[in-house]
Order: sequence, then C-alpha cells, then structure tokens
Amino acid sequence: MKPPPFTYHAPRDLDEALDLLAEVDGKVLAGGQSLIPLLNMRLAAPAHVVDVNRLPGLSGIEAGPEGVTVGALARQAEVARAGVHPLLGQALRLVAHPVIRNRGTVVGSLVHADPAAELPAVLAVLGGSVRLARRAPGGTGVRQVAADAFFAGPLESAAEPGELAVSAFFPALPPRSGSAFEEVARRHGDYALLAGVCAVVTLDEDLHVAAARVACVGVGPVPVVADVSEVCGRRPAATVPWEAVTEAVRRAVEPEDDIHASAAYRLHLVGVLAERALREAAARAAAPP
Ligand SMILES: Cc1cc2nc3c(=O)[nH]c(=O)nc-3n(C[C@H](O)[C@H](O)[C@H](O)COP(=O)(O)OP(=O)(O)OC[C@H]3O[C@@H](n4cnc5c(N)ncnc54)[C@H](O)[C@@H]3O)c2cc1C
Repeated sequence: MKPPPFTYHAPRDLDEALDLLAEVDGKVLAGGQSLIPLLNMRLAAPAHVVDVNRLPGLSGIEAGPEGVTVGALARQAEVARAGVHPLLGQALRLVAHPVIRNRGTVVGSLVHADPAAELPAVLAVLGGSVRLARRAPGGTGVRQVAADAFFAGPLESAAEPGELAVSAFFPALPPRSGSAFEEVARRHGDYALLAGVCAVVTLDEDLHVAAARVACVGVGPVPVVADVSEVCGRRPAATVPWEAVTEAVRRAVEPEDDIHASAAYRLHLVGVLAERALREAAARAAAPP
C-alpha cells in the first residue's frame, strides 16, 4: 500500500527542525519502523513529515555513573551493541528483528508508546525520563518528562505537536542489582502481545532482597509499575513468598480481552512472568560482578 500524500521536509539542524515543527502540523520521522507502516496502512495521514535523520548531535549513547543518555537518533541495534545498560540489552533482544533494530530508534519507540512495546517498560521500571525540545519565544524550550508522566495511553505519549524528543535517560542499576525481561509473544521478534514483565531486584550485603520492582506491558494502556519490595520481604530470594508476590503484581494490572488472549489468561501469565523475571533478576544480582 502507498501512504497518503504529504509534504516531506529534511531539516539540516535542530533549529530548522524546531522551526518547522512549530510551523506545520507534521509528524517526526525517525527510524520509520512504526510511522511508515502506519502511513502505508493509512492509519495516519499527516500533512507534513519532518525527517530528523540528518540532524547532527542526536546519535549519542553516553554512559556515566548515574545512567545512560540515549540520543534521539541512536538506533536500537547501536544501543544493544554498546552494552551500556543490562536491562536495555535484555529488552532490545526481544524487540523486533535485526533489520528493524538497525533503523528503529530507542527514543522513537518511547514516543510511539505502543502498549506492548518493551522499551517503555524499561524506562518505567527504572524511573527514567525523556527530554523534549520545542521552539519557544527567543530560543529553544526544553522540558524533561519523567517516565510515569510520559506514557499517557495507547500510542500516546507526553510529546506534544511541535515537540521533538531529543534524548532519553535510563538510570543505572544500583550496586548489587540484577534485571531481567520475560515476555510471551506469538512469534519470535514480535511485541509482547500477550504480556511482558521486566524486573529489577537489589540485594543488601547479606544478599537479602532490599528492593524489587516490575513493569508489565501488554496488560494495560501504558506500562504498569509495581513495587513489590515489601511483599518480597528482606529475605533471600529462595525464601521469598512468590505466590504473594505474583498476586500483588496481578492486583496492579487490569488486562482486557482481545483477539490475542483473554483477560483471564493475561492475568495468569503476568504473574508467571513476574515470578520468572524477579527470580532471574535476583540470581543476577547475587552473581559475582
Ligand atoms: C515488523 C515489525 C516488528 C516490530 N516489533 C517490535 C517489537 O517487538 N517491540 C517493539 O517495541 N517495537 C517493535 N517494532 C517497532 C520498532 O521498534 C520501531 O522502530 C519503534 O517503535 C519506533 O522507532 P522509530 O525510530 O522507527 O520511529 P518512527 O517510526 O520514525 O516514529 C514512530 C512515532 O514516534 C514519533 N517519533 C519518533 N521519534 C521521535 C522524536 N525524536 N521526537 C518526537 N516524535 C518522534 C513519530 O512521529 C511517530 O509518531 C516493530 C516494527 C516492525 C516493522
């Protein structure tokens, strides 16, 4: 299928891009791995498309003690290869296929906000943020939106018309932490259409669980974060009351029926995946560095 007609723009720098986005009712084109299918299927019909691929300075992947900043044009494959964050790496292995990860951007996936996508869950469980730039009187306005305010609904993020997401920040895992991502998809490389859960577990010096969080996808309009530290209790992972933990996670989500699965099946699955991800994360946290 062919996209509906639109005017194509290819700005050469950030200023030009922000001017254009302020002037026209346009969609940003990054990796195009979600936008182009939407155009081709005529599920989106913007009058203007602003291709940001030529903008300099937005491809960085900067790792520091606080975490990793991923620029808007850093491709998913580049971020995976950089090996800068264990949970990002674990999630990216589940995202699509190599050709798609070669073009698709991490930031584009966050802005696209698919409820079954893996990367929004990673941002949510880590408490990360997205930086948004727009043309403002006399210069450039920038705001930083925390993950819990960034995902607004299915395919709806806090990025407003006229705004360009310039980077995303993924906080580093605390010391003695481990992470894991578990999902069930019908096909290899597909979204977590049935359910997906990522987990971060932090242990104390006695290797007892000090903190445990999960983010669930595919079971609601946005990633659902559940802090299960208290339910885990400060005890070794082997003696955690897993039934109570999975119940706590199930209470946090409200999945719906659709053509892929019933709500009841998803509810069951999310508990199973949460236990698997938390156990795996705890085992990684306990493993010597
Ligand atoms: C066959 C197939 C399988 C896939 N499987 C998965 C999967 O398993 N898991 C998964 O998570 N994803 C999957 N994807 C989607 C893929 O990860 C996309 O690359 C990603 O969702 C969007 O990134 P992009 O850079 O391609 O964005 P684009 O397609 O260019 O843009 C997507 C949307 O975000 C907006 N946008 C993008 N970047 C910015 C920005 N910097 N500022 C403001 N707005 C912006 C665009 O305007 C558009 O609305 C799949 C895609 C395909 C084609």
